Amino acid sequence: MRREVALTDETNEQALDHLLQHYRAERQQEELCFATWRPSTGGSRQTALLNEVILPHDDERHLHTNASFEPAYLARAIGIARRQGAGLAFMHSHPFPGFQRLSRADATAEGRVIARPARATGLPLVGLTVGSDGYWSARTWHRNGSRVSMDWCSQVRVVGIHQYQSFFNDDLVPVPERQQVLQRTYETLGPDVQRNLARMRIGVIGLGSVGSIVAEAIGRIGVSQITLIDHDEVKPHNLDRMLFATTSDVGDTKVSLVERNLLQHATAAKPDIEAIPLPIQDSVAYRAALDCDVLFSCVDRPLARDVLNHIAYAHLIPVIDGGISVKAPEEQFRSAHWRAHLVAPGRECMRCNRQYRSGDVGAERDGSLDDPSYIDDLPDNARQQNQNVFPFSLSLASMEVNRLLHYILPSPSLGKIYAQDYQFNVGAIYPRQADCRDTCRFPGRVGQGDSTLPPYVELDDPVAAASE
Ligand SMILES: [Zn+2]
Ligand SMILES: [Zn+2]
Repeated sequence: MRREVALTDETNEQALDHLLQHYRAERQQEELCFATWRPSTGGSRQTALLNEVILPHDDERHLHTNASFEPAYLARAIGIARRQGAGLAFMHSHPFPGFQRLSRADATAEGRVIARPARATGLPLVGLTVGSDGYWSARTWHRNGSRVSMDWCSQVRVVGIHQYQSFFNDDLVPVPERQQVLQRTYETLGPDVQRNLARMRIGVIGLGSVGSIVAEAIGRIGVSQITLIDHDEVKPHNLDRMLFATTSDVGDTKVSLVERNLLQHATAAKPDIEAIPLPIQDSVAYRAALDCDVLFSCVDRPLARDVLNHIAYAHLIPVIDGGISVKAPEEQFRSAHWRAHLVAPGRECMRCNRQYRSGDVGAERDGSLDDPSYIDDLPDNARQQNQNVFPFSLSLASMEVNRLLHYILPSPSLGKIYAQDYQFNVGAIYPRQADCRDTCRFPGRVGQGDSTLPPYVELDDPVAAASE
């Protein structure tokens, strides 16, 4: 099981404001604090989702170039974690930039002093160190007979409203070698960004007209780990829109067609493509989605969107979603527009931006969504719309992949992008900025991980490897 840590940029800023306060004031003084975390369990990855930073009271810790804490602070933090049903995390800062290794004193503090009492939470201790430049390193401490043993985390992900940052442990996830085939991509995005892209796992859910193009585009820019999820087969009416599909592919699954093409076209040195011919609410597909760093939602069904909406908030995995709407009554084109948006904590969810309606999730489950009488009763804009042509899909797929690049590029010259709506009839892209409605339940699920589950996702192994 690969281990990682994820946090929102709100939590990140709160932690950095505390941990780096002395360095920012030009004082050589370390700082420490506790936090709570909840598990997010994928098929091959366990992520500790940081929830609440527990700042020390003045008399709970001592500063002497290094920093130390009173037992009462540890006891208070464990109490808070237990009341929340969460695990305990311990974070501290170092005066040097970049990835931080564990000093002998750190190993004693985490492994001997904190890890054992932290077991009272039922979850392993997560230790984090932050460099003076905000670069995180992390590890988990597990019971190993009468001792505790330590595992380094592969990555710490900071999931922001406008920016995504990944802090890799280069020992576990080596920096990929520079490749000549990606020369122009390096020159454009910068080697650091390309290095991160090459080490991310990106999922594409729905491999129809838009998803097949998104998959090709991320394969071309050097993403080496790609997860494809779609239970559908290629049908004759897909051939005018699905990238590289031919008549000989009819009857094959969409994921295997895209996988075959990616293995030939991906520019990564060793493409690692996982093709899952199952719906997203299936246990295996759901867990595979939880292994990804970013997901593309290229689905057109409400239930799949509801699952992905849940994952974006509860598991801190940003989802880039889009949709095409065409009005062509009686085969007469009237208008078209398509929309791309990023769904993540602090941003409007897909339910609130009307990409699906809650009622349709239930209707899809009981089969009435496809019942002609149900469809006739829907308002015009809520009907399942299947009209589309290849150039529309190309444009939307491009908008979605560019949202990914915009999200991971660290350039300070980039503006803030909310939802983008391209109106074909007038040739303009309109921004749309909104928050979730006050009654929306998704913001309340941020960082809750495995402790909440959409009712129609049934996991084969609900407890998995979360406990010690
Ligand atoms: Zn240290
Ligand atoms: Zn919402």
